[in-house]
Amino acid sequence: MTPTAPDIVVTRRPPGDVLARLADAGTLYVWEDDRPMPPELLRQQLAAASGLYCMLTDPIDAALLDAAPSLRVVSTMAVGVDNIDLAACTARRIPVGHTPGVLTETTADLAFALLLAAARRIVEGVDYVRAGRWQRWEPDALPGHDVHGTVLGIIGLGRIGRAVARRAAGFGMTVWYHSRSPHPDVESDLGVVRKSLDTLLAGSDHVVVTVALTDETRHIIDADALATMKPTATLVNVSRGGTVDQEALRVALERGEIAAAGLDVTDPEPIDHRDPLLRLPNCVVIPHIGSSSWATRVAMADLAGANLLAGLAGEQLPACANPEVYG
Ligand code: NAP
Repeated sequence: MTPTAPDIVVTRRPPGDVLARLADAGTLYVWEDDRPMPPELLRQQLAAASGLYCMLTDPIDAALLDAAPSLRVVSTMAVGVDNIDLAACTARRIPVGHTPGVLTETTADLAFALLLAAARRIVEGVDYVRAGRWQRWEPDALPGHDVHGTVLGIIGLGRIGRAVARRAAGFGMTVWYHSRSPHPDVESDLGVVRKSLDTLLAGSDHVVVTVALTDETRHIIDADALATMKPTATLVNVSRGGTVDQEALRVALERGEIAAAGLDVTDPEPIDHRDPLLRLPNCVVIPHIGSSSWATRVAMADLAGANLLAGLAGEQLPACANPEVYG
C-alpha cells in the first residue's frame, strides 16, 4: 500500500496526458512497471479505491471486486472485456467502461495487413532477402494466394468486422459473414451476405475472425473448422487468441489443411517464443498490436479516462460495456 490509500488505481501508465486529468479527481496509484501489475498488489491497492483504470492484461473477477468495497467504476483501455467478469460488476452496480469505436479502423487496417502478409508471404519474402538468398528474378519465387477478387469470410460482423468488409470492397472481394444475429442494414449497405459458419468456412478463400471472445465463441475455429476450410485459405485472427484452437491451427498449417495464418492475438499472451507455431513459415504472428497506432492508443487512453471520470462523478459512462447496470 502507498502511505495514503489511493482513490484511483491505474495498472499501467497510459499514453498521452490522461493521468493529469485523473489526478484532479483523486489521489492516484500508477503501476510503472512494464509487466502487468501483480494481482495481489492490485487487490491491496484497491482496498479503499473508488476507480480502477485497467488494461486487458488484468483479470478482474468477483474475488477482486470483493476486496474493493468502495469501487464505483472499472475502466479498461480496450474494447474487449473478456478479462472482466461483467456479471460480477453488474451485480455490484459497478459500470464497466471500454473503448469501442476509436480503435475500429486502426484494427481493421491491421487485419488487412495480416491478410496480405500471410496470403502473399510477405514475411517469408523479407527473410529471403535478409538471408542473401535473392539472386535473381525467379518465375516461381514465393507464390502466394490472391486476395483481390476472392471470397472473404468474416466471423463476427461487429464494428471491426464491418470495417474489414469496407476494405474488402476495395479489393473487389465478395464478403460473407457469420454473426450471432443478422445485420440486414449492413447487408444492404455493404453488400455482405450472412452464411452459416460451415458454409462460410467451406466457401471462403480467406477468413478473418473479429468476433468477441465469450464462452460461446471460445475455439470457434477448432480442428473441425480448420478441416472445413480450403487448403488455399488464409486465417486471420484479430479478436482474442481464445477464439482459435492454437494447437489445432499448428497441425492444420503443418498438414497444409489451410495455406497460411496471420495472428495478432494468441492464447496465452505472450506466446512462448519457443512455441512450434513460430517456426512455421506460413504463420505470421505479431504481438497484439491491432490498435497500436500513436493516435489510436491516445484516443483509447482518453476514452478510458472519460469513462473513469464519469463513473467517479456518478454520471453515465460515455462507453459502457454493461449498460444494464443503469437499469
Ligand atoms: P463488436 O462491435 O461488439 O463486435 C463483436 C461481434 O462479435 C459482434 O458482431 C457480435 O455479434 C459477435 N458475437 C458475439 N458473440 C457471438 C457469438 N456467440 N457468436 C457469433 N458472433 C458473436 O466489437 P468490435 O469493436 O468489433 O471488437 C471485436 C473484438 O475484437 C473485441 O471483442 C476484441 O476482443 C477484439 N479487438 C482486438 C483488437 C486487437 O488489437 N487485435 C483491437 C480491438 C478489438 P452481434 O452482431 O450479433 O452482436
